Amino acid sequence: MQTPYITIDTCKIEQNTRTIVDQCKKYGIQVAGVTKGTLGMVEVAQAMIRGGIDWIGESRLDNIERLRRSNIDTPILLMRSPHMSEIERVVSLADVSLNSEYEIIKALSDKSLSKGFVHKIIIMVDLGDLREGVWPNELLPLVKEVVSMKGIEIIGLGTNLTDLNGTIPTYENNKQLVDLAKEIEEKCKIKLQYLSAGNSSSLKLLASGKIPERINHFRIGEGILLGRETINRETWGNTLQDAFTLYAEIIEKKLKPSLPIGEIGQDAFGNIPQLEDRGMMTRAILNVGRQDTNVDGLTPKQSNIEILGATSDHLIIDLTQEAAMNVGDTVAFDLNYAALLSAMTSPFVNKVVQR
Ligand SMILES: *Cc1c(COP(=O)(O)O)cnc(C)c1O
Repeated sequence: MQTPYITIDTCKIEQNTRTIVDQCKKYGIQVAGVTKGTLGMVEVAQAMIRGGIDWIGESRLDNIERLRRSNIDTPILLMRSPHMSEIERVVSLADVSLNSEYEIIKALSDKSLSKGFVHKIIIMVDLGDLREGVWPNELLPLVKEVVSMKGIEIIGLGTNLTDLNGTIPTYENNKQLVDLAKEIEEKCKIKLQYLSAGNSSSLKLLASGKIPERINHFRIGEGILLGRETINRETWGNTLQDAFTLYAEIIEKKLKPSLPIGEIGQDAFGNIPQLEDRGMMTRAILNVGRQDTNVDGLTPKQSNIEILGATSDHLIIDLTQEAAMNVGDTVAFDLNYAALLSAMTSPFVNKVVQR
């Protein structure tokens, strides 16, 4: 196998999906399995479908197009708010999109009308995390405008917490979404079918039984892919954390000092290295670097191997405790979400699907 490569265990993804979908079902919550951390990989989507998801969540139209071409007919939710230059593709590729801007929704309405159908949207409300969404007091005025658009059907409200600023989902902020939905339904005479309140940061609230009634839709990525909730990155019960593993190859192994020689300035990325003297060590270079993954999110599977640093194409490790490994051997790593996202989207990392 050509290194570096990442293995994708679809059985583990399927098992993680089933665990989370079953938990959500108990509370009447449908799950959109979010594939964007894997470049919308078809085999990952298929594993999630086998695990019982009702929707696929994706942020990129190119990924959605690939999923469609491979005959996946599960409804697909476009999760990043559309931009003006992709309106036509949004209405032809996505079953539903998440939205928060009047001009965009108007353009979606005009385009879908011209094609003779109605595009479904979920309107996003910002309940404090300060990423996407209308501010609560601007929701009613927006919905009043949108209900008169003939090419749009509002099927629900959504919110996205924790992703940007770590705002923790609570009964109170979830209840705020329910209350807003009730107000909208009364004042605009529409029925909101979905309240899409959560991502992987909502799993703890779910397990505590404190999700308010009427919340019936989650969009789950990391929980399924890496088996973790995302408030404290605790492992989630009955899920596996190792569906993905990154392998890189040793291209140099030498006994060298732990401290560089000479006067020290900035490194390749503008940082000044802070190092301690640990005497001579066995240093190895692996053929993976910042062009391949987010190296800060890698953890060697073997606890006696330590990452010392990385540049664009090289990862330097301390092999002092692992004398048996040599040039040509591969070293395995667990990945966090940032490392997974960058490895899966890097053209330099081979993708190896395991069934
Ligand atoms: C990425 C994303 C998710 C999934 O988040 P996870 O923390 O991976 O579960 C959910 N909703 C939106 C809008 C997203 O962009």
